[in-house]
Amino acid sequence: MNIEGKLYTLVYGDVSSISANPIEKKPFFHFWPGSWALTIGTWSCNFTCPWCQNYDISKVNPQPPKANYVDPEKFVRIIGNAGCSGCSISFNEPTILFEYSLSVFPLAYKKGLYNTFVSNGYMTIEALRMLRDAGMDAIKFDVKGDAEAVQRHCGADVNVVWRNVGEAKRLGMHVEVVTLVIPGVNDDDDCIREIARRHLKEAGSESPLHFTQFYPTHEMMDRPRTPVETLEKAHRIATEEGVQYVYAGNVPGHKLENTYCPACGELLIGRFGFTVTKYAVIENRRCPKCGLEIPIIGKYVRSTKLTRPLERWDL
Ligand SMILES: [Zn+2]
Repeated sequence: MNIEGKLYTLVYGDVSSISANPIEKKPFFHFWPGSWALTIGTWSCNFTCPWCQNYDISKVNPQPPKANYVDPEKFVRIIGNAGCSGCSISFNEPTILFEYSLSVFPLAYKKGLYNTFVSNGYMTIEALRMLRDAGMDAIKFDVKGDAEAVQRHCGADVNVVWRNVGEAKRLGMHVEVVTLVIPGVNDDDDCIREIARRHLKEAGSESPLHFTQFYPTHEMMDRPRTPVETLEKAHRIATEEGVQYVYAGNVPGHKLENTYCPACGELLIGRFGFTVTKYAVIENRRCPKCGLEIPIIGKYVRSTKLTRPLERWDL
């Protein structure tokens, strides 16, 4: 809020939701597989997506007098107590919690915990650099469609998002890109191909690209869930274009949740929903069959090691 010419954040440390989640839920598939991330969000958003799955917090204006304040030290303490390997700023757009993230990330980093953003990627390059300097390890970018769809539905310029995908890679952060595939918005072949091509250009062939299933919600109740065949088509197109790790999401039990070796086809990481069911690249992060190096950041953490597998936290 602009108060007499000075900008103030209304949400610093105001937590709307907090829970321990598998990192696969973000989704990050090539980053600390099997680990859990303590996840928080606040209120409001900088986009206007009518299909928002978290509209109960993203479409709500902050109310500082009613803030549920969690100071950064306490938040980082809860990460450890919950048996999580790091944190994730998520649920609504994490850039809204930019200043708070700059406080939390160095504290978590010092404790050997990872820091992540689950973001629509709409920030300045300067902000991205400040987050990296504060200790951000990974960022998931939501690419919501082509330029026309993103302008129409989200009120934003997708070129800024792609620019930041490239910049995050250059800054050395782990990057995964996700498109929620919505019938009639971004499910045509040309749009999928365009996303795959820009992914290759900005993130590179080894960065994971996810196509996830839409379900009717918020202001977009007028269309069905995305057919599984559409996600399979998106996988085929992106693979044809040269993306090596393409996944389908929100379809538990589908084989495109798994990681296969792009060279020999060996099943490397098996998943069911957000659970890792098989992990075959422990040795030097190489395919056990053909020896290809598989780009995985961080350690594999067996979920059973979570000391307190709580989904929700009462503060
Ligand atoms: Zn192989």
